[in-house]
Amino acid sequence: MTRERPHSQGIWRRAEQSLVGGVNSPVRAFRAVGGAPLILSKGAGARVWDADGNEYLDYVCSWGALICGHAPAAISDAIADQARRGTSFGITTELEVELAERIAGAIPSIEKIRFVSSGTEATMSAARLARGFTGRDLLLKFEGCYHGHADSFLSEAGSGLATFGISASAGVPQASAALTINVPYNDLEAVEQAFASHPGAIAAVIVEPVAANMGVVPPAEGFLAGLAEISKREGAVLIFDEVITGFRLSWGGAQKLYGVTPDLTTLGKIIGGGLPVAAYGGRREIMDRLTPLGDVYQAGTLSGNPLAMRAGIEMLKLLAVPGFYWQINARAGRLAEGLRTVLAALHVEGQVQAVGSLMTLFFTAQPVTNYSDAKKSDTARYAAFFNAMLERGILLAPSQFEAAFVSSAHTDADIDATVSAAKESLTRGKKTNG
Ligand SMILES: *Cc1c(COP(=O)(O)O)cnc(C)c1O
Repeated sequence: MTRERPHSQGIWRRAEQSLVGGVNSPVRAFRAVGGAPLILSKGAGARVWDADGNEYLDYVCSWGALICGHAPAAISDAIADQARRGTSFGITTELEVELAERIAGAIPSIEKIRFVSSGTEATMSAARLARGFTGRDLLLKFEGCYHGHADSFLSEAGSGLATFGISASAGVPQASAALTINVPYNDLEAVEQAFASHPGAIAAVIVEPVAANMGVVPPAEGFLAGLAEISKREGAVLIFDEVITGFRLSWGGAQKLYGVTPDLTTLGKIIGGGLPVAAYGGRREIMDRLTPLGDVYQAGTLSGNPLAMRAGIEMLKLLAVPGFYWQINARAGRLAEGLRTVLAALHVEGQVQAVGSLMTLFFTAQPVTNYSDAKKSDTARYAAFFNAMLERGILLAPSQFEAAFVSSAHTDADIDATVSAAKESLTRGKKTNG
């Protein structure tokens, strides 16, 4: 049942000539799983189609941005309507105010917000703001977390860096890299030590409240509360990078789910409804240090553009429907349970780690609590599983170190088909691996 993709292969050959590595973001090159990268041409609901017309059930969902699946009518209609009225003015519209109000209504720690166009911009700007606010230079981050591709965050980072085994990107000045301290995720002791070694010098602690860029790694009991306590005591700004978890794990994000309030929050992915929108926001006292009120500069030509704001507003309306999170989490729970049953039945060494509609199947014997645990996974086994699933029409993340994203468009029947495909794929994997 191999899916033939001659047309896609022709496009890929052209892509390799004109785009670096054939892609505009490295994980899309499928290097970690082998095989020809997909070329997609259409999406609807939980499904995507490649350039040859083959259909796939999609668990990438634009890396989590599409929590309601592809092209929901309300969002597509709003985008089309707005496109006729103007896509960008570079001057304020009411739409920015409306999306800001909706976000602040959902996440009470966001007293003021600033919209940008990518998660990278949001975290980079939040770090600058924290440095301006505290008058300190150092940043503390966690190994295996990903915060976009600004210089400060490109050491021991997750996502594509984990996928390609890059511990630090070339091109980051040593002087800049030296300002970032990395400690293991879920290790409060290491956080205490870092503050003790650099008294009065750490501007911010930045963390994914549920790590989802080294595969899904939940925070240990008390980890987030501990970070809040230490940051407060030390006068450092606590930044929750909720670019994935915001509007994913609950209407109020991970901070609501775990009951821990950060000083600043970064958002992205979901809040753009599939268009390029991200944001950072938080305590008024800190946010008001931004220009034009304060002395920390940040700006953007397309920031808050009306096209993207319309998409974001429609997305939030879909998520505000009562029962939305209960339903999507129930679907994802059905998938996690199904996969665990398959692993147990086939005696496969694996961990299904899930929080809400985020999950990763790690091919490793022990639960994954940090980046060094994650790196013990059998990535060759993941690659074989990925390709066996793809052959069966199921698109997973093309890397062990990424999450699978369940959307509200995935039905129980889709979930059950995915579990059956996993059973076949893992059975076949056992045979070929001896
Ligand atoms: C995706 C992501 C980013 C970067 O967002 P981009 O829009 O890709 O720049 C930052 N932080 C986290 C947690 C992410 O998942």
